[in-house]
Amino acid sequence: MKIKLNDMATSGILMSESSKLYEEAMKVLVGGVNSPVRAAIRPYPFFVREGKGPYIFTVDGQRLIDYVLGYGPLILGHAPEPVVKRVMEYINRGWLYGAPTEIEVALAKKIVSHFPSIKKVRFVNSGGEAVATAIRLARGYTKRRKILKFEGCYHGAIDYVLVKAGSAAAHFGTPSSAGVPEDVAKLTLVARYNDLDSVERVMRSEGNDVAAIIVEPVMANYGVIPPREGFLKGLREIADKYGALLIFDEVVTGYRLGLGGAQRYYGVSADITTLGKIIGGGFPVGAVGARDEIMDLLSPRGPVFNAGTFNGHPISMIAGLATIDVLETTNAYDIAISASRRLAEGINDVLSRSGIDHVVNWVPTMLQVFFTKGEVIDHETAGKSDTKLYLRLHEELLKRGVFIAPSQFEAMFTSSSHTSDVVEETLRQIEDSVKALKQV
Ligand SMILES: *Cc1c(COP(=O)(O)O)cnc(C)c1O
Repeated sequence: MKIKLNDMATSGILMSESSKLYEEAMKVLVGGVNSPVRAAIRPYPFFVREGKGPYIFTVDGQRLIDYVLGYGPLILGHAPEPVVKRVMEYINRGWLYGAPTEIEVALAKKIVSHFPSIKKVRFVNSGGEAVATAIRLARGYTKRRKILKFEGCYHGAIDYVLVKAGSAAAHFGTPSSAGVPEDVAKLTLVARYNDLDSVERVMRSEGNDVAAIIVEPVMANYGVIPPREGFLKGLREIADKYGALLIFDEVVTGYRLGLGGAQRYYGVSADITTLGKIIGGGFPVGAVGARDEIMDLLSPRGPVFNAGTFNGHPISMIAGLATIDVLETTNAYDIAISASRRLAEGINDVLSRSGIDHVVNWVPTMLQVFFTKGEVIDHETAGKSDTKLYLRLHEELLKRGVFIAPSQFEAMFTSSSHTSDVVEETLRQIEDSVKALKQV
């Protein structure tokens, strides 16, 4: 397939539709957007008219090959036929009852079949809600107060995890957002990703009061940073040693690294798993899963409260179910994984030839390039990369019809709609973009 470059789209004439909308948006939405990364596109975000397969089409008529994919959920690309069909079928029946439907049972069964550590599921409405519920469950189960997280891991916009490392001497964290009380942040301990010694140090002094260690099994909200050999297994052992639960936040890795998520891919089991993104097929969703003994503490069975008007929303459930059906029965993963691998290799080649310092981190269907020397293994090494150069790459690519996230600290995602033609076209645009980077 040939991608037509729409030169006019960047000339400032056709972009004016987005710019007009942005001006309107700025008056009534904070920063013109509803989630901050969307405002990072300069000079203003493009507004989207529609998406199909690997493409999004802006209101200004530009076609973009999309490697953002809604920040992860769209593993089949935009508006895949089988999902559209099931959603249309179900939406005509009505969509909210305050009573159970068979669809949520079917989706829960799928998840239980793919994750051996999960015997029951609670569906909520976002990844952040899933994390809040998982933490409450861990506290209810262990009757302990503290949690341990990793610097640079993202777990949603909720107080307990909007916490960064405090002073070097202290183990406890400080708020990474205004409005999060110090007292709340103090209950969150912070260690360094891929560094078991840092975990052991914190646990040695605080372990008896730690309800859970929570981790992104692949750090995917600080670029993409895979776990080192033995890191996840080491966390499993440390959690067991101190009687803490291990929470894998698989909101993004779940169904991206394959049907069993990071747990199957790396062969390490969590006590509590959070899911989201893909399991709603692009509709709002979150889920918590664990063994019966833990899950049965949730209301209505147990004393740990959770409820939600939209929990198990039928349309999210059917879209998730349809997506997982496709992942189970077709070669969707093969295509999405090949695309991510080819893209990672291709970017590496182009940058190596150009002599620009870089690191490309890859896991199945996710990757990111960092402009730095040496490896990127945690927040500190990632933080050394040239974020301005990354942004310029993003801008050069956007001019050439390719959309990657406007932040170094996000991931590139692939889908089953990113066929080899689409990826090769992307690599040609990357080649040209890197040439443009070198010309200043
Ligand atoms: C996206 C994400 C979240 C938050 O999910 P929302 O649906 O945006 O609330 C939490 N954890 C991880 C690992 C994520 O990638």
